[in-house]
Amino acid sequence: MSSAFDTLLAIQAHDTRLDQIRHQLAGLAERAARDTASDAVASIDGEIAGVTSARGDLARRQKRLDDEIETIAAKRAHEEETLYGGSVTNARALQDLQEEIESLKRRISDLEDQDLEIMEQIEPLDARLAELAESRDEAVGVLEGCEVALTAAEAELAVALESEQAQRDDLTPGVDSTLLSEYESLRAARGGVGVARLSGTQCGGCHLALSAVEVSRIRKLADGEVTHCEECGRLLVP
Ligand SMILES: [Zn+2]
Repeated sequence: MSSAFDTLLAIQAHDTRLDQIRHQLAGLAERAARDTASDAVASIDGEIAGVTSARGDLARRQKRLDDEIETIAAKRAHEEETLYGGSVTNARALQDLQEEIESLKRRISDLEDQDLEIMEQIEPLDARLAELAESRDEAVGVLEGCEVALTAAEAELAVALESEQAQRDDLTPGVDSTLLSEYESLRAARGGVGVARLSGTQCGGCHLALSAVEVSRIRKLADGEVTHCEECGRLLVP
């Protein structure tokens, strides 16, 4: 048996292992856990944004009310100044002023009630925001843990990948480049396996039994002579 074919089988073993590691890397449970943790943070952020926006609307309404109260209070102060200032002496005018001041007081009181209602609506939103901030801290903590676990798992597989790749690369000079490229194209076309050993009458690639005539022909091949499985077309090593 030719050592070039042994080397090719060894390259195949490394390639199979490389495929397994890449598959593991793509399907890491740590990545799924990280994605779930990341979604949890995003979901909390979404709720925080919604509550913050509702709170903002209320705060703007409150600001408008406060401004209006301030304007009316200033007007009331001005009217009271006029009332008690002594410049108005006409009884009818004084009564009008008093009525106007009373009306402004009622308006302020009404606006203050509205203000209070808004404050009552803001309170539970602030409580919810505090809860959400706490949940977010927890979720971020979980996410950070997941990121660390994922990075560690990826690093471990990256080391294995690098080692397999280096071992494979060391072997390629021992194989004729035409044979190697045939192996590579067969491997690409046939699910990652380009070369297999003939064990008994069975092809190690497709696991089908070859005819007795074919097996006997292969057994008689000279060292280094290339042959293929008649069933799957893979390189076959006797
Ligand atoms: Zn086969």
